[in-house]
Amino acid sequence: MADLNDQELADFAARLRAMKAELAEVKASSKDASAVVQLDQQSVGRLSRMDALQAQAMAQETDRRRMLDLRKIDAALARIDEGEFGYCAACGDAIERGRLDLDPAAATCVAHAK
Ligand SMILES: [Zn+2]
Repeated sequence: MADLNDQELADFAARLRAMKAELAEVKASSKDASAVVQLDQQSVGRLSRMDALQAQAMAQETDRRRMLDLRKIDAALARIDEGEFGYCAACGDAIERGRLDLDPAAATCVAHAK
């Protein structure tokens, strides 16, 4: 670990776990929302049905992104365990501290960010 001490690593780990808990919470509440949409779908006309389908597609896309975020967070937590946290997955250089502060799940340096 070039420039992160144990305390800093513990702080990042805590933030990552909090982010994960938040995502799980949002997912649980959005499931209720999509259940309501499905009920509406059966009881209303064609136009509303299309709205409902569109809303469902958007919910699925949001779900997909949330899954990707979760995977990113899990990968970052694994890197902390393996002592590789804070290094770019593409070039191996230390990731900018400001970037990690902004997104502790960042796996690459600024130069290799998509
Ligand atoms: Zn890099």
